[in-house]
Amino acid sequence: MSETIFEKIIKKEIPAYVVYEDDVVLAFLDISQVTPGHTLVLPKKHVADIFDYDGDLAATVFSRIPKIARAIRTFDPAIKGLNILCNNGALAYQSVFHSHIHLIPRYTEDDSFGLKWADNSADYTPEQYEAIAAKIAEKIEED
Ligand code: AMP
Repeated sequence: MSETIFEKIIKKEIPAYVVYEDDVVLAFLDISQVTPGHTLVLPKKHVADIFDYDGDLAATVFSRIPKIARAIRTFDPAIKGLNILCNNGALAYQSVFHSHIHLIPRYTEDDSFGLKWADNSADYTPEQYEAIAAKIAEKIEED
């Protein structure tokens, strides 16, 4: 598979507005700035999406998120919350196939971030919930 733009950023072949870097993780401003301070956090190792991580890499990448989130919050006192989003697969709006986590500061109810969140619970019986949970549970891999 051809190299993504994020691998070029990791290798410093193209610039980015870096906010955090260590041996494993890089974080930089998302060029779209859905809201001011919108930041991407990604592993330097190539993983295409969440299905590709092993537990150690996930633990390391996700362990950096709280401190980056706190730093983003200090950037503007108008920040009232933060959405954390990881798109996996084109259908789920992933457009760059090097895994990354969006940290999107929230300012007001009508700022530029939106998410549709339907409540379909009226369509499910307890038996249906149990069947779905059991089917997923039996596929959880051993550590
Ligand atoms: P996704 O749709 O979840 O794969 O998100 C990809 C994100 O990468 C989008 O929000 C883009 O704005 C962002 N993006 C693409 N190219 C760059 C770049 N050169 N620097 C920073 N962000 C970028």
